Amino acid sequence: MKKQNQTSIESEERQKALELHWHALTPQEVLTSVNSSLETGLSPEEVQRRLGLFGPNALPEKKPRSIVWVFLKQFQSPLIYLLFLASGVAFSLGHRTDSLVILTIVFINALIGTFQEGRAQKSMEALRHLTAIKVRVLRGGLEAVVDARELVSGDILVLGGGDAMGADARLLEVAAFEVSEAALTGESVPVPKEVSSCPPDTLLADRRNMVYAGTHVTAGRGRAVVVATGFGTEVGKIATLTTTAEEPKTPLEQKMTQFGRTIIWAASLMFVLVMAIGFLRGLPFSEILMVAISQVVSVIPEGLPVAMTVALAMGMQRMARRGAIVRRLVAVETLGSTNVICTDKTGTLTRNEMTVTSIFLPEGRQMEMTGSGYEPEGKILEDGSEIDPRKDEALLNLFRAGVLCNDARLIPPNDQGSHWRVLGDPTEGSLLTMALKGGVPIEDTQRKFPRLAEIPFDSVSKMMAVQVQDEKGSLIFLKGAPEAVLELVLDEQMKKRALTAGEKMAAQALRLLAFAVVDGFDADLGKGFEALRGRARFLGLVGQFDPPRPEVQEAVRRCRDAGILPIMVTGDHKLTGLAVARILGIAREGDIALDGRELAELSEAQLQDQLDRISVFARVHPAQKLRIVNAWQARKAVVAMTGDGVNDAPALAKADVGVAMGITGTEVAKEASKIVITDDNFATIVHAVEEGRLVYRNLQKLILYLVGTGISEIVVLFAALLLGYPLPLAAVQILWINLVADGTMTLPLVMDPPEGSEMRSPPIPRGEPILTRQLFKRLSLMAIAMALSTFGYYAYRLSLGIPFAQVQTETFTVLAVCQWFNALNCRSERQSAFQGLFRNRWIIGGLVIGNLFHIAVIYAPPLNHVFHTVPLPFGQVIAVGLTASLVLWVEEIRKYFVRRSDIASVVARRL
Ligand code: ATP
Repeated sequence: MKKQNQTSIESEERQKALELHWHALTPQEVLTSVNSSLETGLSPEEVQRRLGLFGPNALPEKKPRSIVWVFLKQFQSPLIYLLFLASGVAFSLGHRTDSLVILTIVFINALIGTFQEGRAQKSMEALRHLTAIKVRVLRGGLEAVVDARELVSGDILVLGGGDAMGADARLLEVAAFEVSEAALTGESVPVPKEVSSCPPDTLLADRRNMVYAGTHVTAGRGRAVVVATGFGTEVGKIATLTTTAEEPKTPLEQKMTQFGRTIIWAASLMFVLVMAIGFLRGLPFSEILMVAISQVVSVIPEGLPVAMTVALAMGMQRMARRGAIVRRLVAVETLGSTNVICTDKTGTLTRNEMTVTSIFLPEGRQMEMTGSGYEPEGKILEDGSEIDPRKDEALLNLFRAGVLCNDARLIPPNDQGSHWRVLGDPTEGSLLTMALKGGVPIEDTQRKFPRLAEIPFDSVSKMMAVQVQDEKGSLIFLKGAPEAVLELVLDEQMKKRALTAGEKMAAQALRLLAFAVVDGFDADLGKGFEALRGRARFLGLVGQFDPPRPEVQEAVRRCRDAGILPIMVTGDHKLTGLAVARILGIAREGDIALDGRELAELSEAQLQDQLDRISVFARVHPAQKLRIVNAWQARKAVVAMTGDGVNDAPALAKADVGVAMGITGTEVAKEASKIVITDDNFATIVHAVEEGRLVYRNLQKLILYLVGTGISEIVVLFAALLLGYPLPLAAVQILWINLVADGTMTLPLVMDPPEGSEMRSPPIPRGEPILTRQLFKRLSLMAIAMALSTFGYYAYRLSLGIPFAQVQTETFTVLAVCQWFNALNCRSERQSAFQGLFRNRWIIGGLVIGNLFHIAVIYAPPLNHVFHTVPLPFGQVIAVGLTASLVLWVEEIRKYFVRRSDIASVVARRL
């Protein structure tokens, strides 16, 4: 009874939540209705209770396929239908055992496929979790980042530019807050938001005090309380029950489909040919039909589709382990073809750990600041001698501006081993350290000058402003890129001097910030920076050092070896960018840097003319990133571009591989990207490229292997048919080799670890067929070697008058052993098969299983009957093994010559 009562109270609560016009209520009324508080948010226990009541904040997702479904899907292929037909034919002709064997082989094949797909599915699931939308909330008085799935009504959202809205919410506080609602209303221009209430009948698109799931914040800051989640949200209401769309086929998948079609044609042709020859030779119809069907089976690389899924999934998993989370499958292969990487500087090439090392004051004074990291220990030196900042009004003004125009917090070490840390933007954190070194207390200063209003920093204006209260009225402090801040300063002389000083600092790889103050301005900041033009008084320049990441130099070198051009695209000063690019090897002799203004002045043709030489694009407007991507794509380059801000989204989406930053990246940037790197590190992108290449190479190895097997079998059978020999292999033997022996080697080949040369060859040309001409030549050589050893052995043994059943068993074994040797061959284009053999344990496992299976087929009496085999004497097994090894030696010799010509060409290049 009690439980029933409680349920009805809960459902009333739920009903109420669905019916209220949140936009018509005041913020306080909304907070009261959802029983929450702006200061503390909900308690974690209350969140759990509400999650239990309303369920997770999610629309229904596609259910993972059950194992039975995956298993049954393995039978859904024309090839399998053909095998069923073959089994039926065999049965009706009285070959009951053959019929059963075919069914069993099909069954084992389906089991192998299910196992592989199960693995692939699992790793995809794990990745999906990593790409979930994250939101910042206030819970129990503390800010936390949680999965949007865990939001409940009453949660307080802490919102900033680039955040994706995870639920519908009523705004409580805003500062220059704008939201793009294109996804919901189709309105492409961002909508400014406010907190005041609207009339109850206001249309959705005009509700200025609401934010909705599916939209995102383009600028400013705000807080809002969640009022609807999951199905209760506006998108939830319009979302039909259909599940998310399937991902479109990637070019590689399309290439594979194309390849599959060619093979089907070849197989049909083969079928007709075998039937015709058999008929002409007067072979019994049933026998020739079975052989024709087995031939078809041998031409078709049945393991390929599943292997491709596995290869891509495993590639994604390996990339995730190295810090690159793939959001779209296509990225795995596109990465392998990437030949230009446009990368941000701060945080990606450098550590994003700022330390102020240089100061310039309006009177032309230049100072150095010592110390490292965020620890507030250091001296200020002017002309080499220490000065006391407490007595220096100009310095104190600069430090004060740094403290007030700031949203970061410094955290002292909490134990012996740890360091001072920054919560928030490192650029701002370093200003707090600077102030402490200069003896300006942070909290006291902030208390003394309470903030009245602000214009948050954005990468377009490259500035930030705060309006604070002082005894006389209000003051506005500005900080930002020198060119931007100095634009607002009236004193032309000062402007010039400061810009020249800035250039000197920038050439030492320092990141620049200029400071200014506006006093006697009593209007509010709502009119933006324009209203401040000509009224700002320059306070000084600050140069920050951001150490390059130590691993980047090596990553840049690897890029060059791999035929990939690294390009820096930075919001920083041109000279800062160029100096850092030189240190890292991105800018080389003859390379140039271009800034946003210069780029804007270039025509498309002029840009194309210079493109090769530009290794640094500086002070670029985010929209210009798109132009850079377009310019390179016009040259058919495959471009990877990094980004983090909301304005980077168009360029990220347009790039062939958009790479979002996992730490500093906004949700919008992540949504627009194909991969997210969790450590924001350039070296991780290069690792991901390597993995992308590996996936492609491994698939090529597999094709080489599977098609090689098929062709060798065809040649052997055709040779027998044409030369009038009895058929060297029974139909079930061919099926066994194709489905079981090959099946056990598919996974090992796609799991092959990198051999180390992946980044020493040029990118994989886009549009290159998967079976390249070079690969085809290699394949032909292998197939000829295998066919020669198998047929030669067969003909020789027959000529000795040995019983046919034994010769057939031996021939069957020669061909099976050929496959094993060939799997080892396929692993590398130039390295010996013996090199690094034990690095791939899968291949050892595959060989052991394959051998055990084969031993069973030859030596287990019940299987002898089924597979038309007889036990072989041990000595003969050795002879068989040696004969089959021909393909290994042929490849070893070829590889030896390839390596020798490699060395010769390196020597020739050196000379
Ligand atoms: P990258 O694109 O390579 O990461 P970046 O991060 O330096 O470069 P932005 O963050 O857009 O690019 O910064 C551009 C410029 O804006 C900086 O050089 C600096 O002068 C200024 N700036 C950066 N952060 C702030 C901030 N929090 N407040 C004011 N100005 C800033």
